[in-house]
Amino acid sequence: MQTQRCATCGQDWWDSHVCPKQTLKNGQTLADWTAAANKLHAAMPAVRKALDDLDGKTKAREDAATLDAVRQAVLGYYAALDARKHGGVAQDEAFRAVEKALGMHWVQGASISGKTPNVRAKRPDAAEKE
Ligand SMILES: [Zn+2]
Repeated sequence: MQTQRCATCGQDWWDSHVCPKQTLKNGQTLADWTAAANKLHAAMPAVRKALDDLDGKTKAREDAATLDAVRQAVLGYYAALDARKHGGVAQDEAFRAVEKALGMHWVQGASISGKTPNVRAKRPDAAEKE
């Protein structure tokens, strides 16, 4: 088979040749660009892990904020009792505050339908809180 030699890189070829020494539009050679792309590709698992870690931390912060809001609701109930306010009303207010903190609300029939549309997929963000 008749082979040809690349004048740029010296590689022998017979059907087609993508020269690794060719200069790209940005001034890099194809080989440089490929090496950079491979480096980036190799870094992806670390980037993905960092993003997962960040996501976990974000969730932990949200969970802490939810727990704090629930705790505040219960403390508000105790304060209402100490202030001799109506216990039933105070309890209802506290329960509403807990629902809000958890992003839940009653949807009639949801608990017996097997579906749970009364649970928000995501906690309301800080802007939504009052
Ligand atoms: Zn070549």
